[in-house]
Amino acid sequence: MPKKTPTERALYSCAELAFNKNHFKEAQKYARKALSCKRPKILGKTYFLQGKIQVKLGNFEDAITCFKNAKEAGYERPEDCDVNIGSCHLMIDRPWQALESCLAACRNEKYHRLGDAYNQVGLVYMKMGKYSDAIDYFKKALNENTLSNPGIAKINLGEAYSHSGDHKAAGESFKEAKAFFQAANGVPFLQLLERLISKEKQKGKGTDSLKESLIETELLFRVVNRLIRQAVWDEDQQIKIVSLATQVGQILEAKLEAAKEYAIHVVPASDRPPERERLTLSLPPPPPTNYFLSLKAWSSNLPLMSKKDSKLKNIQHIVGGGYFIWWKEKGIVIDPGIDFRNNFHDYNRHLDDIDAIIVTHCHIDHAHDLDAIVDMLRENKSILQSQNKLRVKKQVIIMMDQQTHFAKEDEIAKVVGEDNCFLLKKMYKDSINNKLRDVGIHIKVHPFATQHNCKGSVGLAMEFLNDDSCAETIFKLGITSDTGWTSYLAEELRDCQAIIAHFSKTDKNDIFSYEHPLENTHHLGYRGAHQIIKDTKAQLFILAEWSAEIGDFRFQVAQLLSMEDVGKNKKIIPADLGLLFTLPSVAGEPVTIRCSSCHELVPFSSIIIGNPSNPYGSIVYSCKNCQGK
Ligand SMILES: [Zn+2]
Ligand SMILES: [Zn+2]
Ligand SMILES: [Zn+2]
Repeated sequence: MPKKTPTERALYSCAELAFNKNHFKEAQKYARKALSCKRPKILGKTYFLQGKIQVKLGNFEDAITCFKNAKEAGYERPEDCDVNIGSCHLMIDRPWQALESCLAACRNEKYHRLGDAYNQVGLVYMKMGKYSDAIDYFKKALNENTLSNPGIAKINLGEAYSHSGDHKAAGESFKEAKAFFQAANGVPFLQLLERLISKEKQKGKGTDSLKESLIETELLFRVVNRLIRQAVWDEDQQIKIVSLATQVGQILEAKLEAAKEYAIHVVPASDRPPERERLTLSLPPPPPTNYFLSLKAWSSNLPLMSKKDSKLKNIQHIVGGGYFIWWKEKGIVIDPGIDFRNNFHDYNRHLDDIDAIIVTHCHIDHAHDLDAIVDMLRENKSILQSQNKLRVKKQVIIMMDQQTHFAKEDEIAKVVGEDNCFLLKKMYKDSINNKLRDVGIHIKVHPFATQHNCKGSVGLAMEFLNDDSCAETIFKLGITSDTGWTSYLAEELRDCQAIIAHFSKTDKNDIFSYEHPLENTHHLGYRGAHQIIKDTKAQLFILAEWSAEIGDFRFQVAQLLSMEDVGKNKKIIPADLGLLFTLPSVAGEPVTIRCSSCHELVPFSSIIIGNPSNPYGSIVYSCKNCQGK
């Protein structure tokens, strides 16, 4: 017997690891390599794994061959092979062969998954329309303590009863199934619904029976109820969920309106999200190009503080938010603070547009809505899971400052995967950038430490790269995030063509006294911004993260800085919710800014900034034609 070589074992482990992470193509590659080693001892095991991989890839014929090979190569549990061969045959509509294989597995009474094998036989009989045989086998399965999912078997039993016309027994089964799933957040019910809907679509026989049985248990009403409850909460999933509920409603021939009323009735009023007065926005579609979109108006903790501050008491719409970058068909969210999710939705962006999220520090005006996005990703994942569409799930990369990472990594990793969570620190930038390249995000990030009252906070320089080779930098953008001025800040942002500078607070001293200390502050303020403009070569400065408590001075500060010596030949503009500028697609292409009135993209040097018509109103970005309108 030849000794097992480390290479072979390693290849198998790689395949197994990739399989467990749902990277089936990769798993297939490793399994193939492992099989080419031809080591008899591990051959059966590898063939078996390759079979499971083929099932996930939808290659059922190949899978059958693999499971047969595994058996021949002496795989230690031949019954596992038989059950899998059976379920593959069933998938490609060969119930008789499926039956033969599954029954073969049942012959060994000591088989460690006998319950599952019985359940599989039941499914085969159901497919054949032999409902009483199916009922027998589901019952047998439920008597075995080797059955891995009794809830599913109960649903199967209910379905078989239902087809055989015994709605009472079917109803009982469904009720019992429900008990198994209470803890599982109802996801299997969605599977059940999927099944029902697909049967309705095929107009297969027996649908009416199933419907009757489900109505008997009020199960469908509950599922509709759950769907609509979820829709009330989850704006971004609303259309999908309501359309699912509508389909169920149609199948039930019940009026959806009635179902909706029923659903809303059971949502306690206090649990409902507060009504939020939407800004009246006539928003243009996103431009067909790469862009930076400010979805942030003010430092976003202010809306929460406004009631206590007499100056802010009557001010509406002081919203916070975050930033969104679109580069070569990939979306990057930066600092999703309070209001981010609402703004993102108002501006017609969706969960599917997000490929990466960056959090620079843990203050709520930068990180508050991270949880909301992660929740949506989790929900999306469970919906995909329930549709067995896991293999189309895309990766979302999440990069977090030290404290956010410490607090949230475990939870977030469960949703996006451990490999996609990163601690945003200079020392890890190579592994972060390799990952971004691997998932097709052609951006490099360069985090650097900031001076802020938040341990581990960072600012960013971002390089936007050309194509797959990522060899050429087309544009470099700096984001100071919240920071006081530091001696190394200009160095970190040295090659940036545009800089988003977080201005935050100022006061008379800051603006008028040149002796005002630059160091030991937590925010740039006027003097810090002045120094950055002086020390860097960027042509475009966007002043953001405004603090509103001493008044609306955004326009005036930008004007003042533009009139200073350091501001000559540079464009200094305040950011507001909705500010959009393009990122050049080729090096040297001019940056353009979207006019708030006509929505044309105009070169940044010619954009005209309008003072808001009333304090705390919207900043106006005008092209020459729209100026003064
Ligand atoms: Zn902060
Ligand atoms: Zn902040
Ligand atoms: Zn215009």
